[in-house]
Amino acid sequence: MIQNEIEVSSVLVSPSIPVKVFSKSRAVPIKRENNKITLATTYENSNIYVYFREYFPGCEFELVKILPDKLDEIIKYLFLEEELKELISKVKIESESYKTEKSNFVLKLLELILKRAVEKKASDIHFEAFETKAKIKFRLLGSLYEFVSFDMSVFESLVSRIKLSASMNVSEKRRPQDGSFSIKIEKREYDLRVSSLPTIWGESVVIRILNKTDVSTKLSKIGFSKELLYGVKKILNKSYGLFLSSGPTGSGKSTTLYACLKELCQIENKIITVEDPVEYKLENVQQVQVNEKIGLGFADILKNILRQDPDIIMIGEIRDLKTLQIALKAAFSGHLVLSTIHANDALGAIDRMVNLGIEPFMLSAVLAGVQSQRLIRINCPFCKERYLPKENYLELISDKITSDTRFYKSRGCIKCDMSGFYKREVIGEIFLNDENMEKLIIKGNRADIKTYLKKINFKSIFEDGLVKVFEGKTTLEELIKVVNI
Ligand SMILES: [Zn+2]
Repeated sequence: MIQNEIEVSSVLVSPSIPVKVFSKSRAVPIKRENNKITLATTYENSNIYVYFREYFPGCEFELVKILPDKLDEIIKYLFLEEELKELISKVKIESESYKTEKSNFVLKLLELILKRAVEKKASDIHFEAFETKAKIKFRLLGSLYEFVSFDMSVFESLVSRIKLSASMNVSEKRRPQDGSFSIKIEKREYDLRVSSLPTIWGESVVIRILNKTDVSTKLSKIGFSKELLYGVKKILNKSYGLFLSSGPTGSGKSTTLYACLKELCQIENKIITVEDPVEYKLENVQQVQVNEKIGLGFADILKNILRQDPDIIMIGEIRDLKTLQIALKAAFSGHLVLSTIHANDALGAIDRMVNLGIEPFMLSAVLAGVQSQRLIRINCPFCKERYLPKENYLELISDKITSDTRFYKSRGCIKCDMSGFYKREVIGEIFLNDENMEKLIIKGNRADIKTYLKKINFKSIFEDGLVKVFEGKTTLEELIKVVNI
């Protein structure tokens, strides 16, 4: 029997064994039944028992085969766990002693946590205090996962160290603070934005990780469907007009705008952005940071931008009438303006702008198009298998299912941190403004607009996501959760 299905969680029959025993013996214990221990091995070492007798005195052993790659993967994972545990216990001993001379274990622990978060592509690290224990959680693909937990003494040392690094007041523990610092991991620079909040058990700290040098996101790589990509590119080819990307918080709107700018900055264009915050540095783009503390809001900067002779303007977010008015004025005077707006879908973005107080006729003339999106988690390809969604979910799409429809879900493995997912992609919808739409926007009747969109084969976010479900890339449950129907 080839044991290529073994997971780390099953290698816990004796957590006290040092990991180097596994790497030397080329075996790991995977099961214990009374006095019988099952070892999974590659048979690369003929003296397996010698290594394990000490840890399982008087036990019998049974061997099963494991593939070398699988064993290496498990060992690597356990080594990392061991390294983390060792550092935590060193910090614990140190923080509980009265030595004034402290070593740099706590800094090493912080660096290890940051490194691990970056490797796992976490967007945020949460340090949370509770009555007796503290927890560190990573936000991966939009969801929180516990990374490690430890004693409060370790937590306090760690939080003080973070505040010190982020130039925050270390002795102030009763008021919320924010700060920032940057680190270099594997030649890449990361900006870390730190926020602290006093809770009843201690200071809760959240670190947001911004990868400033990440220029990997291209419009063609964020998972857009053909229709969506075609629509966005058509708008980017225009020389003037307002293009909006909409969606709730965390739906990846700004990543989409950055990808658009990357597409545009290859051409001879003067591009100016107004952002809060500047999340990524872009080449050939003039980026301006909003600074509300000195009264420099979106609208204030925008007023001055037009004198800088831009071709393209990107506004981080439209959230008030003043900003919207200037954006429309800029679009009207021959600039391509890109921005995001908080709305559930593409049509909702129009309602939102009208609610901000803009006259529909002002909007209809210069609106180039609106896109709306969500991020959906994609099944891990290493542990994907067929499954059948729950009856009440299937009922929602009963008219779309045929006898050939297959559904796929991932069980969870080491490669996906047992989550079943390995990345996120965009699902979305887009409409391009045309003469008919212009008239309909001025009329403002939702039902008429919907009828027209149906006529021109507009595909909704849900329908776009359903394509990914039918391709086996994600689950029906995930789609329903993110689109919230
Ligand atoms: Zn997996």
